[in-house]
Amino acid sequence: MAALAEEATYVNEQAIIDCLDHTIQPEPARIRAIFAKAREMQGLTFDEVATLIALQDRELTEELFSIARAVKEEIYGSRLVLFAPLYISNRCTNECSYCAYRASNRELHRITLTQEQIAAEIKVIVKQGHKRVLVVAGESYPNSNSLEYVYKAIETVYATRSGNGEIRRANVNIAPLTVEDFRHLKATGIGTYQCFQETYHRPTYAKVHTHGRKADYDWRATVMDRAMEAGIDDVGIGPLFGIYDWRYELLAMLQHIHHLEERFGCGPHTISVPRLEPAAGTDFTATTPWTVSDADFLKLIAIIRLAVPYTGMIMSTRESAEVRRKSFQMGISQTSAGSRTDPGGYELAQGDFNSSQFAVGETRPIDEIVREIAEMGFTPSFCTACYRLGRTGTDFMDIAKPGEIKYHCEPNALSTFTEYLEDYASPATKAVGERLMLYRIQQMDAKQKRIATPMIQAVRAGKRDVFV
Ligand code: SAM
Ligand code: SF4
Repeated sequence: MAALAEEATYVNEQAIIDCLDHTIQPEPARIRAIFAKAREMQGLTFDEVATLIALQDRELTEELFSIARAVKEEIYGSRLVLFAPLYISNRCTNECSYCAYRASNRELHRITLTQEQIAAEIKVIVKQGHKRVLVVAGESYPNSNSLEYVYKAIETVYATRSGNGEIRRANVNIAPLTVEDFRHLKATGIGTYQCFQETYHRPTYAKVHTHGRKADYDWRATVMDRAMEAGIDDVGIGPLFGIYDWRYELLAMLQHIHHLEERFGCGPHTISVPRLEPAAGTDFTATTPWTVSDADFLKLIAIIRLAVPYTGMIMSTRESAEVRRKSFQMGISQTSAGSRTDPGGYELAQGDFNSSQFAVGETRPIDEIVREIAEMGFTPSFCTACYRLGRTGTDFMDIAKPGEIKYHCEPNALSTFTEYLEDYASPATKAVGERLMLYRIQQMDAKQKRIATPMIQAVRAGKRDVFV
């Protein structure tokens, strides 16, 4: 029998409703005071976030966007970390109304990759230039997709090489585990453990998760307590925007972050901002009353950036190129590229909607995305140094907060981008990338240059995996 979950008491629904009900159109002076605080990168309170949520004024919203960008630049520089999702199995015993993998979807072509197929996928991903993957699976324990299978898959990911490259960080997005199972998962050498609450709103959660382990709200809402108790320092959270009112989700997510900070001294390592996409066999996306417009979506990204300035933010290829471009300007620090959401999709070299979890909005190859990111002035980074050097959880936050991270991240970004340019870039991308490299080196302070220059030279001379 499944263990009973601890109750997720940190979600205070009444406080959220009261706050949303009572926050009227804010005075510009109040907004400006919040902006001033946000510029100091001290984060924002629950009430301050609720005030920004109520903001409608166009000019002030533009100001919100530019402050979000400035905060991101200050903490994360102009780097954008890239990764690829790796879907290993689409078998699932749960019933999430919005997901093509749900158990009742008889139309879905079910696939659980063998270890050989996983290795083949990794080879394709490595040949694209990736150094980090996000391993994703439906919840189907303890059948073909048992936990042993997931542990083995992570081992395969790390053991597979292709040419000069290999995967150096495997993050995972799988269903909640017990503390004991999380200890096993940690022992496989994962980077971040990621799990989305989907919606923090209990009644809506119950309506859209009707069957299987996932139907238990508390089991899911306390997942990060168990993961962190098991010693997994880097955890990633996020609502699935479009299931319920985004304003509610944002405030509840803040309560979640606050709870983790209080209990473990450190909040999540990353926040993801997935937004509902059409999925095979369900019209949920077309019928939900809570669709999040592009304008609100960008606004909520900017608000998160100001509210928790030191937390990484992840944007997936669910979104179109246009929305992605805008979001990079205002706070996103990691993004996927060249993604497939169907198990085996990289080898097939084309998306198969009949075995995919949802439709991908950004379908261009990674080379094109890297070129575009570089043209926008962002440094595509394939860095995986922090967790390999044990800079996770509070240790990472301790370096990030005083701005020290720029002496690690910036040189690491340039060294891994050089690897990409040397080993994988097309001539057009290499030309754009080299121009960006020159510019970035010029922009560095003397200490950064002293650290970065020999690293870049070593990579150009044939050394790989150079990091500080
Ligand atoms: N099965 C595990 C679970 O649900 O936690 C982990 C993997 S699940 C494949 C990863 C995430 O995909 C879910 O947490 C959900 O947020 C997201 N997802 C599901 N259906 C989606 C859709 N139609 N559009 C966008 N994201 C979706
Ligand atoms: Fe299964 Fe996860 Fe999809 Fe729900 S979101 S049906 S648990 S794969």
